[in-house]
Amino acid sequence: MKLYNSITKTKDDFYTHEPGVVKMYTCGPTVYHFAHIGNLRSYIMEDVLQKALEHEGYNVQRCMNITDVGHLTSDADTGEDKMLKGARREHKTVMEIAKFYTDAFFADCEKLNIKRPGMIEPATNCIPEFITMIEGLLEKGYAYEAGGNIYFDTSKLKKYYVFSEHEEEDLETGVREGVEEDTNKRNKADFVLWFTKSKFEDQELKWDSPFGVGYPGWHIECSCISLKHLGEYLDLHCGGIDNAFPHHTNEIAQSESYLGHAWCPQWFHVHHLNTTSGKMSKSSGEFLTVSLLEEKGYDPLAYRFFCLGSHYRRNLVFSYENLGNAQSAYEKLVARIAALKNEGEIREEAMQPLKDKFAEAIGNDLNTSLATTVLYDVLKADLTDAEKLHLLADFDSVLSLSLLEKAKALAEKQAKEKAAEDAMPEGMQELLDARAAARKAKNWAESDRIRDEIAAMGYVIVDTPAGAKVKKA
Ligand code: AMP
Ligand code: ZN
Repeated sequence: MKLYNSITKTKDDFYTHEPGVVKMYTCGPTVYHFAHIGNLRSYIMEDVLQKALEHEGYNVQRCMNITDVGHLTSDADTGEDKMLKGARREHKTVMEIAKFYTDAFFADCEKLNIKRPGMIEPATNCIPEFITMIEGLLEKGYAYEAGGNIYFDTSKLKKYYVFSEHEEEDLETGVREGVEEDTNKRNKADFVLWFTKSKFEDQELKWDSPFGVGYPGWHIECSCISLKHLGEYLDLHCGGIDNAFPHHTNEIAQSESYLGHAWCPQWFHVHHLNTTSGKMSKSSGEFLTVSLLEEKGYDPLAYRFFCLGSHYRRNLVFSYENLGNAQSAYEKLVARIAALKNEGEIREEAMQPLKDKFAEAIGNDLNTSLATTVLYDVLKADLTDAEKLHLLADFDSVLSLSLLEKAKALAEKQAKEKAAEDAMPEGMQELLDARAAARKAKNWAESDRIRDEIAAMGYVIVDTPAGAKVKKA
């Protein structure tokens, strides 16, 4: 498996610290609202990555945090906590909001066949771990107190900008226009580890700490939660591309300074899903959720199919037209699979070239669109139906489009419809029996009369070796 690594900026051979075991960390959702389908694009592609690694035989140990505190509306540490905003919007407590939207997130994941990570941890569960790491960073001189908050001192690092080179004037990255700068910072890139003072003093959740009563910054949670569940060495860290800076950059700064060694060598970033008018948003324009797609008659798995049709390192533009095209292609694919009968022999050597083609596509930096075309190659191949079904099931263990399940359901539906069509109306069997008796007695007039009576009911008689049957005229 070759994967593009945002740190080296090349496609590298996938590597693990422990042979056969992948320690994979995923930045989870901020649970102040529903996930939009852009967020879910990231989770779909990460899910394919996990399943591709499992398909290659790795034991993938995956951990995801749930951000339920500390993610501010501004990257410059001066905004309001998104959770608090959500709670106020809905006149609920922060914890009620967190529970509701965490459940909603996993319900969406289930509809999209996104596997639940083995370890899921809300940030508010790990306050003692955050305090320990912040204390360690203070002791080692990587953090300082200013104006009541604890900050990470980015000037103490040899290299802070790990994903991109920043010029001195770019140090303001993350500080959006109209957002006030936090004057406590020694360096512009410094970020908050623990807040006791912010402009927003009505923060609902606060905890006691050696630094004063307050709450954690956003970035510390991922450093601590990954350390808690996956240990000091990660193999793979994932997230949307907007997380690379500042979130992942800050995670690396914290983890490596605290641990005193390199932390995670491979970084997988999914590029954005945009609308035709630009950035996807929860607050402006149409708020695109899985439920909205369903309400409009789209199958969530057609959205997954749409996402697989393009490479994760390219921005993808969403429109209903594009999704509609994906849905009809997906339905046609399912219909073709539904027509296969589980018959014929299974020859490993006959299937191998297509298995190789699929593995090569997925193994080349997760080329899901090419891997999807191999499904069509299977359908066209000179193979038995049983072999085709075997290959489709194998490939779908990575793509997770529920191809065989959907095809089975479709075949059953079609069989039921046909049976209903073939079903004879009441009294028909008696007429057929009377006709058979008339014919046996060579009473052709009576036999013809019965045939006409049946025709008047809208049916024609079909004589079969198993006796006469009728079908709709
Ligand atoms: P959040 O809930 O804001 O913490 O974001 C959850 C995940 O979605 C993160 O990995 C983000 O990087 C990712 N993300 C946010 N917007 C988009 C988008 N438009 N397309 C793809 N991924 C996104
Ligand atoms: Zn994170």
